[in-house]
Amino acid sequence: MFRRPLRRAMRRAARPDVPPLLRRAHEFMAAGNYAAAAEAFETLARAGEARQHPKTGQMYLQAGRARILAGQKSAGFQHLKAGLDALQRMGLRGQLFHAGQRVTAELNQHGMTAEAQELSQWLQTNIPAGMTPAPVPSPAKRPILPTHCPGCGGPLRADDVEWLDEVTAECAWCGSPLRDE
Ligand SMILES: [Zn+2]
Repeated sequence: MFRRPLRRAMRRAARPDVPPLLRRAHEFMAAGNYAAAAEAFETLARAGEARQHPKTGQMYLQAGRARILAGQKSAGFQHLKAGLDALQRMGLRGQLFHAGQRVTAELNQHGMTAEAQELSQWLQTNIPAGMTPAPVPSPAKRPILPTHCPGCGGPLRADDVEWLDEVTAECAWCGSPLRDE
């Protein structure tokens, strides 16, 4: 994999050091151990916050999902807001757009309709009107991504990863470059 050097991808996403805690956090989540997953993602989020790391928002969002799945809806909602806020503060508007839509839908699925509405309103004031996310490759051209990142083990979704070009995506969790080769 990654035999052809792709300068932009390599510069932005050269083989990151994946924190072992991130791998464990994904394992806890996949195993349904939501309380342990929440603690791990909270630790990662706080560490990311201290360094203004671009993945901080993702860590908060996943900590929030884990808390909600563990039955701690109020704590989970606080993390979801912190995650969207981190994306907004770091200027990651494309991610904010997608994450906002997804989180709102997830809250509704959990019956947290008041919280979903609060987030929708927040998103409306924080995402400029008419703003569209960065163009992504058309579905026909998109490579099929693995279901999980080979770097960190995190689950991958086509609308969650960042597309560096038409065939290369970046793992939203650890920044590993992903190509279908
Ligand atoms: Zn990864």
